[in-house]
Amino acid sequence: MTETLDIKITKTKNSRLQETDFNNLPFGKTFSDHMFVADYADGEWKNFEIVPYGEIGLSPAISALHYGQSFFEGLKAYKHADGQVSVFRPNKNAARFNKSAERLCMPELPEDIFIQSIAAIVDIDRDWVPAKPNHSMYIRPFMFATDPYLGVAPSTTYKYMVLVGPTGPYFSKVLRVKIETYFTRSAEGGMGYAKSSGNYGGSMFPAKKATEEGFDQLIWTDAKDHLYVEEMGAANVMFMLDGKLITPSTRDTILDGVTRDTVLTMAREWGMPVEERRVSVAEIIEGAKNGKLTDAFGAGTAATIAAVGSISHNGEEYFLSDPKTREFSQKVLKELDAIKYGSVPDMHGWNYMV
Ligand SMILES: *Cc1c(COP(=O)(O)O)cnc(C)c1O
Repeated sequence: MTETLDIKITKTKNSRLQETDFNNLPFGKTFSDHMFVADYADGEWKNFEIVPYGEIGLSPAISALHYGQSFFEGLKAYKHADGQVSVFRPNKNAARFNKSAERLCMPELPEDIFIQSIAAIVDIDRDWVPAKPNHSMYIRPFMFATDPYLGVAPSTTYKYMVLVGPTGPYFSKVLRVKIETYFTRSAEGGMGYAKSSGNYGGSMFPAKKATEEGFDQLIWTDAKDHLYVEEMGAANVMFMLDGKLITPSTRDTILDGVTRDTVLTMAREWGMPVEERRVSVAEIIEGAKNGKLTDAFGAGTAATIAAVGSISHNGEEYFLSDPKTREFSQKVLKELDAIKYGSVPDMHGWNYMV
C-alpha cells in the first residue's frame, strides 16, 4: 500500500549544475543541488523535506559522533538512451537499511518512505544524472542519532537524509590485493552485516597499511583464524575456480550485497555452477598457483565489478590472467550495464523508473 509522502520542497536559487565538470567526477566528491531530510521523534518519522544541499546544524553531543549510532546505504541511478532515469533495485537497499537500523537500536524506516525519498530527490535533480557510459548518480541514504546526550544508550531522535551526486568509474586500474591475516573488519556476533559507519572507520588503518605496502585493496578473512576469505575492501568477493563461480556465503560478518545477489542470479540463469559457501584462503592460493583460479573480482555498487590482478598472501604475490581476457567477469559487467542503462529488457524488474 503506497501513500504519497508529503514532502516540502525548497528549491535552490543558485544551481551549481552548469559549473560542474562532468568530465572529472571522482567518487563521492560532487553533490547535486538538493538533499532529502527527515526527522524521527516521538516514535514517528516526520518533517519530510527537500532543501538545497548544504551544511546542517547539530548538537556536538549527538551519540552518532560519540558512539557511532550511524549507518548508511549506497545505490545508483542511471540514465537510459531515451533520457529515462532508473534506480537499481532500491527495495533491496530498503530492506538492508532496516537490518542495519535494527542492529544499531535505531528506528525502522518504512520501505515506502525509503523508496519515495529516493525517487523524489533523484527526480528533482535528474539533470545531474550523467548520460555517459560508466557514469551514474550515486545515492547515499543515511541515518544518525541526534539526541544531545552523552549517555551510552540509544537515542530517541534521529535524522534520515539522502545525498546524491554524479560519479564516474570507481577503480580505473586492475587491483593488487592483499589477503589480510592480522586485522579484522568484523567478527561473529559483531555488525559486519550492517552498513554501520564504525565498520568503515575501523577498516581505514589496515587499508592504509596495505596501501603503504603497495596494495590497492585488502581481502578480509575470518576474525578467528584468518583461514577463510570474507570480503574485499567494501565489496563482496567472487572467484572463478575450476569452472565454478565461488563466493563466501553470507553470515553476520559479511555484508549481503545487492551486486553479489545480482551477479549470482545472472550466473545461475546462464547455467554456470555457483557455490555459496565458506571459501578457504588455501584453495584460492592453490588455484592461483595451479592456474585453476581463472577470475577474481570485487562486486559492489560503487565499484561494480573490480578485477583483481594479483593476490598476495604471507609475502608471496600470485598474478592472475589479464582481466580483459576473462570471459565471466567481462560478460557479467556487460550484461549488468546493459540492464542498468536500459539497453536490454529488464526481465527481473530490477530497474525502478523515476
Ligand atoms: C556496500 C558493501 C558491499 C556491496 O554491497 P552492494 O549492495 O553490492 O553495493 C559489500 N561489502 C561491504 C562491506 C559493503 O559495505
